[in-house]
Amino acid sequence: MTLPARSTAGGRPSGTMSRMTNLATPYRTHTCGALRALDADSPARLAGWVHRRRDHGHLIFFDLRDRYGLTQVVVDADRAPDAHAAASRARSEFVLEVSGDVALRLPGMENARLATGDVELHATEVRILSEALTPPFYINDPDAPVDEALRLKYRYLDIRRQPMAERLLLRSALVRAIRDVHHEHGFVEIETPNLIKSTPEGARDFIVPSRLQPGTVYALPQSPQQLKQLLMVAGIDRYFQIARCFRDEDLRGDRQPEFTQLDLEMSFVLEDTVMDFVETMVIEVSRRAAPDRPILRVPFPRYTYEEALGRFGSDKPDIRFGLELVDLASALGAPASSGFRVFDDVLAAGGRVMAVRAPGMGSLSRSGVDELTELARRHGAKGLAHVSVDADGGLHSPIGKFLGEETLRSVADAAGAEPGDLVLIVADSFDTTTDVLGRLRTEIGARRGLADPDVLAYCWVHRFPMYKWDAEYVRWDATHNPFSGPVPEDMPLLTTASGDLSVRTPEDPAGRARAQQYDVALNGWELGGGSVRIHHREELERSFLLQGHSLEAMHDKFGGMLEAFDYGAPPHGGIALGVDRWAALLAYQTNIREVMAFPKTQSGGDLMLDAPSAPDQEQWDELGLRFVGVKRD
Ligand code: ASP
Repeated sequence: MTLPARSTAGGRPSGTMSRMTNLATPYRTHTCGALRALDADSPARLAGWVHRRRDHGHLIFFDLRDRYGLTQVVVDADRAPDAHAAASRARSEFVLEVSGDVALRLPGMENARLATGDVELHATEVRILSEALTPPFYINDPDAPVDEALRLKYRYLDIRRQPMAERLLLRSALVRAIRDVHHEHGFVEIETPNLIKSTPEGARDFIVPSRLQPGTVYALPQSPQQLKQLLMVAGIDRYFQIARCFRDEDLRGDRQPEFTQLDLEMSFVLEDTVMDFVETMVIEVSRRAAPDRPILRVPFPRYTYEEALGRFGSDKPDIRFGLELVDLASALGAPASSGFRVFDDVLAAGGRVMAVRAPGMGSLSRSGVDELTELARRHGAKGLAHVSVDADGGLHSPIGKFLGEETLRSVADAAGAEPGDLVLIVADSFDTTTDVLGRLRTEIGARRGLADPDVLAYCWVHRFPMYKWDAEYVRWDATHNPFSGPVPEDMPLLTTASGDLSVRTPEDPAGRARAQQYDVALNGWELGGGSVRIHHREELERSFLLQGHSLEAMHDKFGGMLEAFDYGAPPHGGIALGVDRWAALLAYQTNIREVMAFPKTQSGGDLMLDAPSAPDQEQWDELGLRFVGVKRD
């Protein structure tokens, strides 16, 4: 049979592929997702994997699959004996090339769930391109539970499965939207090297020994931070990169040793300039990559760090539901005694008594309350008080006998409690109280299903403290990025009480400085963070001295960048957003491994390629290295 050469041979491929995309190759005229009723009576050739096969002896049916879809193939022993012989040998996941004629399915036999469900291919020729072993898990059943280690070992088979393939396509759409939007806004995409000098982001470096300069190492970038700032000194003005970053950390939860950031930097900007652009970009990218997902609030709410903690108990609040924290000081009649010593003592010591409402949880059992108390204790609270409201509005609380009915009522009212609710109360320092109540708020939200899973709720948190005191090293650690600048009016605070920057104490004015640092959160996850930087050498040196670097250490670590600042650095700022996390949230996943093609395990291993592995002796020799064991303290 001769098949016509077709320039639009992809037919009508599914997904985002345009109709005109030519997906034809010598092995296929169409993809497995392309054929429609209009193609009936035309010849076609498909190539793909055997998805499901039903052998009725004389007639063999199978679905042929590629990433565009499935097409049913029918092989009739009378009509095509050779094709039938080949189809008889074929098993699941064999790779076949099938030529034949497109035919309408018999009335009633259409499959509305398949885009190609009106037609089938009547094979005239079946060619086995590759045989396949029986796969270690079902590829044709997207819901079959499969152990993750097995999925990672056979990731190429896992990616053949529809859910994983769809997530990678979504990720690709996300990255494409990111690129398009940045180009539309005048950004220049620049690749920075992966073999560099250490750029600290608070983690350990991965290092690569140099063969040409024995005894020296490169560091893999924890981020392109210094390089992008140098690009601003170079006059690039608006830079972005989809950058691979490497951080050698103990892997927890959804961390990976290498991950991808959308990294950007802009010149001649104030805090608002960067935040406004990033917000516009995030909205445009979301609408292109996930058009069905509503964005909760535009413009994104902006909370100062203090406000975010006070209202949501988190610096990455999930604002898809309310349940804001409530300060109980005035309901308790402070500064007069509330009658409950624990609360009075905390308030007298400058701490906070605050509450969160748990709607509809008023009848939580004793052990249910104990569980929440345990959660509170795990995060540093000394205890958890509660008030429950019964269906008639009656209040019940173990601390009622201390507070008295009237105060208990004011507490419940302040918390906005309604019949059937539970009010949870924590009394401690501001940090502990808000942190614990924030976690309880998240727990309540999850238990009560308060967060709409479809909604994208972006918000900003900014004005973080510049530093936090590090008692062990007697220094001020940058809370985020060591290059961040303070809000302009706090610049004079970048000093110590004594005026000598090498004599640091927890009482230093530096502890009160707020950074021009902004984080963007999405549905309770930190999506990214950035800052306006210090762009004057002397000010950066001051900040580094407060951070405990001696002048020599500073010049050794950041000499190149400090020198560059002597040659005219523009005011600049930027941000980095986690692409893995963004893709995961758009794909309704909580683990970034689900949107990474080849992620590592918790112990940093690649189960498929068996990495890391011992180098050859020759490699050791060339590098002048020898393994002498690991020193642990
Ligand atoms: N380099 C920072 C990070 O990786 C982001 C930034 O400040 O631009 O978190």
